[in-house]
Amino acid sequence: MALNVFFDVDYTILAVDGSLRPRTRETFELLVNDGHSIYIWSGVGLRKWEVKKHDLESFVTGIYQKPIQDFVAGLEEMKVPLWPDFVIDDYPEIVDVFGGILVQPYFFKSDSDDQMDRIYSIITEFVETGESGRVGYRAATAARPPGA
Ligand SMILES: [Mg+2]
Repeated sequence: MALNVFFDVDYTILAVDGSLRPRTRETFELLVNDGHSIYIWSGVGLRKWEVKKHDLESFVTGIYQKPIQDFVAGLEEMKVPLWPDFVIDDYPEIVDVFGGILVQPYFFKSDSDDQMDRIYSIITEFVETGESGRVGYRAATAARPPGA
């Protein structure tokens, strides 16, 4: 099962100082090699500059603005042309809608942060079993529309 995996930016892959969370690039590479597609979205706009700055462009299929409320209706409003199968965010509401992982916020640069490895193993488990019992995993509450 190939997933459209949507990553938030601030405090999910980037710290306050703009540094990249440890193992983000390696995790993106693993996910792409597993056949998944990675999308970057942010509530504050199109983060093309940050994706380029951190040399993530080759792993990222699309960059979008993230709805900050009314998430399902917001997809069309924000011109997101596909359904987010799996969302990684430090903000719980959007994870509860589409399903995915509520990640510990990454505020300050920390070389010992291991959340990207956790994210990869939860996604792998989700692909194999359709769920995960691990901390942070949230099942989707929104119904995927037919044909999406
Ligand atoms: Mg965030």
